[in-house]
Amino acid sequence: MTNICPIKNVADLVSEACRAYRETFDGENANVAVCAPGRVNLIGEHTDYNEGFVLPMALPMVTVMVGSKTSGQKCCVVTLTEAADEPKMVDFDLPNELTPLLRGQPNWANYVKGVVQHYRARPIPGFRAVIASSVPLGGGLSSSASLEVAVYTFLQQLCPDDGNQVAKAVACQQAEHTHAAVPCGIMDQFVSVLGKEGHALLIDCRSLQATAVPLADPGLVILITNSNIRHSLTGSEYPTRRKQCENAAVVLGKKSLREATLQDLEAAKDRLDSVTYRRARHVIEEIERTAQAAEALKRGDYKEFGRLMVESHNSLRDNYEVSCPELDQLVSAALEVEGVFGSRMTGGGFGGCTVTLLQAYAKERAVKHIQEKYHGSPTFFITTPSEGAHVFNL
Ligand code: ADP
Repeated sequence: MTNICPIKNVADLVSEACRAYRETFDGENANVAVCAPGRVNLIGEHTDYNEGFVLPMALPMVTVMVGSKTSGQKCCVVTLTEAADEPKMVDFDLPNELTPLLRGQPNWANYVKGVVQHYRARPIPGFRAVIASSVPLGGGLSSSASLEVAVYTFLQQLCPDDGNQVAKAVACQQAEHTHAAVPCGIMDQFVSVLGKEGHALLIDCRSLQATAVPLADPGLVILITNSNIRHSLTGSEYPTRRKQCENAAVVLGKKSLREATLQDLEAAKDRLDSVTYRRARHVIEEIERTAQAAEALKRGDYKEFGRLMVESHNSLRDNYEVSCPELDQLVSAALEVEGVFGSRMTGGGFGGCTVTLLQAYAKERAVKHIQEKYHGSPTFFITTPSEGAHVFNL
């Protein structure tokens, strides 16, 4: 028996949330329903906050938000997600000029409050809402960004903004910075807003322009393996990496590492400590690899794409030092299977998931082999590139 997780149908999630809404709010019906996807990054890791390229795709796993506006100034939100911290229901007042929404408990509600605070139109009416999700929490598939983008999309139905999609992603990123205290880049929110079915998205995180790259070959499978491990050092390691990259850019005399070449780095080697040198080397090479990978995908050269994925993983392990034995083990096991093009850790690191590109015919064999070789208990998702945030008619 392998642990391939069935992916919950979005319509079923919406029905579940609508039922819970009726039960929670005196038999009333929700009249707004939206969803926003999680994401997997195919290549381009830790490059977004260095203004580089990333190549993620939106997932069929989504966060759904259903609800209705109310006449008052109060917001009441319930999450149906077991793994969120208690309590599962929160009440808060809408922010105003004098009293912004601040971080508090439970932690999950900070993502909601952050988006309400950074929403780009006013006046937001009071509302009641229920959240349901098929994105695993804390697994590196961006349940947090999908929650933020779902909340923003929900607010758009109550109080329309100007419809600028990039500004929407930036507002959700701001919410994560101020209310979750995670200094994340733009990738997760961007692809959750702008993801396109049957395509990966090459995002230039300097210009914030994106190109959709077709990825719908029926002979290909994108396998996500969750290590179900999360090493607790993650909290401090991410800001540390960010700082090291900023320091490297300063020493190189560049605005960001996007502007730097390997020649620049070599020329400055004497002025960088060895750790900072390796961090910068990963970023500069990874930006180039991501551009090459997008070209390979356009040509249908999956072999080359897979080779670049493996190079990316090795660099994240050796130069950026954000992998861990569990992720390395999952990648090595995947690469032993005939029909696998490439495999790498995906997301911030120190646990979470790997992503593997393989021939569809090798799917069962790959899952079985990885499960046998991995010392922990993995879960698997067979995924296809999906649509960004959207609204449902109820
Ligand atoms: P991920 O890689 O999944 O984004 P994070 O640790 O960055 O991992 O964010 C996970 C956090 O986001 C959860 O601990 C929770 O606070 C919040 N979250 C995500 N999805 C939901 C949800 N459906 N309901 C409540 N909180 C959620």
